[in-house]
Amino acid sequence: MPVRIAVLLTALLLVISACAAETVVGQGAARGVDATVAAIVTTTTVAVVSASTTTTTVEPPEVRIGLALVPAGGTPVFAQPGGDPEYTIHEGILLGFDDRDGRWLEVMTTCNEPMWVRESDVDLVPRSRGAGSPGTVDLSKATIVVDPGHGDRDWGGVGPSGLAEKEANLAISLRLRTLLTASHDVNWESGLIAPGDTVPAVDAVWLTRDPDGPNQGDYELGLAYRSHIANSAGADVLVSIHNNTVPTADPVGPGSEVFYAWSVDDSDRLASLIHQELLRSFESFDIDWKGGLILGARSRIDPETDTDYYGILRRADMPAVIVEGAYISEPAEEELLRTDAFRQAYAEAVYRGIIRFLSTAEEGERINDPEVFTSDAGTVSSAACQVPRQP
Ligand SMILES: [Zn+2]
Repeated sequence: MPVRIAVLLTALLLVISACAAETVVGQGAARGVDATVAAIVTTTTVAVVSASTTTTTVEPPEVRIGLALVPAGGTPVFAQPGGDPEYTIHEGILLGFDDRDGRWLEVMTTCNEPMWVRESDVDLVPRSRGAGSPGTVDLSKATIVVDPGHGDRDWGGVGPSGLAEKEANLAISLRLRTLLTASHDVNWESGLIAPGDTVPAVDAVWLTRDPDGPNQGDYELGLAYRSHIANSAGADVLVSIHNNTVPTADPVGPGSEVFYAWSVDDSDRLASLIHQELLRSFESFDIDWKGGLILGARSRIDPETDTDYYGILRRADMPAVIVEGAYISEPAEEELLRTDAFRQAYAEAVYRGIIRFLSTAEEGERINDPEVFTSDAGTVSSAACQVPRQP
């Protein structure tokens, strides 16, 4: 019996140190604690079995789904496990993986290709085990994926004085991450957000396109990649940040629209709550707003496949939305999008919408039925997409 206890203790220490080595610095750090607890539970059994033969080799549990962070110096990428690498992917890029072969992880590149990396060449973050059902989520365990729309030669919409949507989207996304990763007090009457502890920080926020990556975060991403990151991370919510072009109407207030994933329950409620908060945030900006004929929470269905028209929403496993906050093609709205005040108001609106969605059962409003949609969304062809290489 004492031998067995000693073996168990040794095993526990080995496991704890093995997991600590896998813990990633930064926002994913808190995730490592959960993983360590799970690892101890599963591997102690192994230790008891091996006690009879007095061998105490304890393998860390295999993580089958999660995120692989490309560390400083980049990570070699292979067409299959083994052989010579095809190239070295740039440091600071986030990869999702959903399968493994021994010590090899099957990832999806930023250009949507399935490829392989060695487990030892990346920093692993296991998939989140979930923070509860929408409405009753423990915020401190929640994982959010924020997707700044477009990047690199895929500029998105461009304003009359030259502001690119990709730049505004990233700036707003960074502010949203800052909000989500700190605790606050929120005055739900006025919408005012202040330092405090009634709304805890979420566990992890992952940006699909991050200034830690190449070119200060200005790089191209495929749509499948963006959803794959959220699915691999086990995100509770996926929010893609955009701004619109070519208005068709003169609404009384802001012409914000939020598109929901038709195929995922509760996405419409998320879209609606974010839309409500956008109107509240933007109403203090006194301009002649432009918009479309249908305002509020919307969804588009591809009649050929009878699924979501937007690829990022179609592939998402969790409540997912595309936010179109303002019309960058309009001079007045482009001017707002250049300002810190408007970017912060946009980020705060999405923040409040996400918090209400996760932690309350509040119903949405202005939820439009799905529209049949056949136009081309105008995304840059993925055929010429280049995965950023480490110089
Ligand atoms: Zn866009």
